Amino acid sequence: MSIVADNLARVRERIALAAAKAGRAAGEVQLVGVTKYVTAQRAAELLQTGCAILGESRPQQLWDKAADAAFESLTPNWHMIGHLQRNKVARTVPLVAMIHSVDSPRLLKAIDDSAATTGSRTKVLLEVNCSGDSEKHGFTPEALSEFASELGNYSSVEICGLMTMAAGDRNLSTAAANFAALREFRDQLAGEVPGAIELAELSMGMSGDFEVAIAEGSTIVRVGSALWEGVE
Ligand SMILES: *Cc1c(COP(=O)(O)O)cnc(C)c1O
Repeated sequence: MSIVADNLARVRERIALAAAKAGRAAGEVQLVGVTKYVTAQRAAELLQTGCAILGESRPQQLWDKAADAAFESLTPNWHMIGHLQRNKVARTVPLVAMIHSVDSPRLLKAIDDSAATTGSRTKVLLEVNCSGDSEKHGFTPEALSEFASELGNYSSVEICGLMTMAAGDRNLSTAAANFAALREFRDQLAGEVPGAIELAELSMGMSGDFEVAIAEGSTIVRVGSALWEGVE
């Protein structure tokens, strides 16, 4: 097996184990393979190894990889997982299956406008800052709660759920608390948004903390470094 295939198998095993421990099916947790550390060639290798969803945190890197010859005959589901500036929306929307990082009403509006011109409906997650870390992007729970009743006004986006990043201190019990806070906030928000919006997805968990995220109800984990260990 190639190193990438081996790493992917190990990450999948860890996901399955964490899910089983939480009494959940492994199939309830989707894996986004984060490719920001590697070349388009390596990213394509990960896709061919069986990881159908690839994530990038910088728009320019996503555009470059998507246009690279390595992806000529391949169609990954690209997920935009990092901060997205409004002037980069029009170029990003046609390339992606989901945007995890919607952190303001203005960005949501820009994505909605852009999706309307392409005639598609873009799947999005609303990013929530659950850690109170001012370095992190995302709505505060209070701000998102205030905005909840307006979420039905964006007809070219499908609002699928919430995303968060744990506090940067790499402490697993802090991460678990941040993830539990996102789940509890989702349960509250679900009662505040228009009925057609489901908020089924919780994008939380990275290489260092995806097991605790799965224990707290994560449905999408975004894993980078664990997939690229030992890869040049
Ligand atoms: C880089 C990144 C990840 C993956 O982080 P790893 O610790 O390398 O697994 C996940 N989410 C976002 C938003 C990122 O920027």
